[in-house]
Amino acid sequence: MSWVIGIDLGGTKTAIGLVNPEHQIVGQRRISTHEEQGPQAIVERIAQEIADLEQVHGQKAQAVGICCPGPVDHVTGSLLTLVNLPGLSNTPLRQLLAERLGVPVQLDHDAKAAALGEFHYGAGRGRTHMVYIVIGTGVGAAIILDGKLYYGESNSSGEVGHITVDRHGDVCQCGSRGCMETYTSGPWLARRYQQTLAKLGLPDKEASGEQLTHLAATGDPAAQAVMQAAGTALGIAVASMAMIMNVELYIIGGSVAKAGDVLLEPARETVPHYAFKAVAARVQIVASALGDDGPILGSAWLGRAALRV
Ligand SMILES: [Zn+2]
Repeated sequence: MSWVIGIDLGGTKTAIGLVNPEHQIVGQRRISTHEEQGPQAIVERIAQEIADLEQVHGQKAQAVGICCPGPVDHVTGSLLTLVNLPGLSNTPLRQLLAERLGVPVQLDHDAKAAALGEFHYGAGRGRTHMVYIVIGTGVGAAIILDGKLYYGESNSSGEVGHITVDRHGDVCQCGSRGCMETYTSGPWLARRYQQTLAKLGLPDKEASGEQLTHLAATGDPAAQAVMQAAGTALGIAVASMAMIMNVELYIIGGSVAKAGDVLLEPARETVPHYAFKAVAARVQIVASALGDDGPILGSAWLGRAALRV
């Protein structure tokens, strides 16, 4: 069995992990992405970190998997027009990395890689179907059916953040109204927290989505109301997916999901109100088991898959 590298390239940070044949991350580096420096500089910095990891552990990686924020073309291995990483838009990143490293490279969307990580090594082990939902600055998802990622007919499956959960709700960035994302994403949580404080006649206070989850856990009534609404919106979206696909396992990851039961419990309570009883009874909404390691392990799995073909 081979040693491989898994890379999670993000808007600000990039994590690089050396993964052993037992699928464990034995060494990890986190570097600033610096997308403004362009693709060649990023490829070079990643290559140097890989070389360093290989030297420290006395192993040579046989393949590399890398995941990035979307949209990406997993077939050609190219990044498309990236809102959060404009300096890397329209880059054939897989080809650039493969040329520099001299090993097979696979590239996919970060939510899809995280889903693969959970499916093979985390909360989805032993299952055949699952949905992974990542809730952070935005909301995205990856669907695994019959053990395989489902991409859709034109590679745009999994936009569950934009399922309408309230047709009279606020206008979303996507142009639609009352999207699940407008209740659950970090920026929307922060906005709704301030709105709720004003409604309750409490003094104005700013808190990020992640800070809100802590405030809710410590009994802050406005934070609890916002997280309750977020969990309800998540539950409605899960109920809709369960009714359409009859998938029973929903794994929730991303920075906002670190809230745990403050978010997940209202979601679980909501599902039976919006799905057939027989369907709802089998739905499980669970927290990601791998956290930040998920995208790295999923990318490593992709890299390893390149060696099998
Ligand atoms: Zn939307």
